[in-house]
Amino acid sequence: MNERAKERELRIGPAHMPVLRGRSRPVAKVTEAERGLLAGMLRLMYDSKGLGLAAPQVGIDARLIVVDIGAGPLQLVNPVIEQRGRKTSGRAEGCLSLPKISVTVRRPESVVVLAHDEQDRPVRFSAAGLLSRVVQHEIDHLDGTLIIDYLPWFKRRVQCRQLGIAPRISRQRTRGLRGALRGKKGSLLLSYLMIQ
Ligand SMILES: [Zn+2]
Repeated sequence: MNERAKERELRIGPAHMPVLRGRSRPVAKVTEAERGLLAGMLRLMYDSKGLGLAAPQVGIDARLIVVDIGAGPLQLVNPVIEQRGRKTSGRAEGCLSLPKISVTVRRPESVVVLAHDEQDRPVRFSAAGLLSRVVQHEIDHLDGTLIIDYLPWFKRRVQCRQLGIAPRISRQRTRGLRGALRGKKGSLLLSYLMIQ
């Protein structure tokens, strides 16, 4: 295995990192740098006894996730959920970025995922059960969504305050605001709301 990418040493960043609340950037090309990053993410995930990890959790703004539910590692670049099954179920989820917090999250039980692998080859697969749930949780991270965003608003406010992080503004609400706010003053207010 002389081709093994140079693994990057990483650590999980604090919950208040802005990169955890934004939409991560797509990866243009998978190079040795991305492979090293993915290898470092896998190592950290195993060391932390997690089932998945997304690049924003280690402070990196890139659409990269790793997952292993015990069936071998998956390294996914620019993953997209192409299809969601109709049946949903709720299950308690934890997150390496939010230690000691558990939230019951309702998600589709099955999904079809499109992505590229660590060799930049396109992959498409269906996932059900735990794999589906973990992949959805990690893709959520790439869009700035955390498990606390699935709480009712009043509980979310309390959690956000305790963690020192901004309550996420849903895209719908942002769109509404964008429509409602006109002119320079409006866009300034909007940027304030987006970055808080
Ligand atoms: Zn997480």
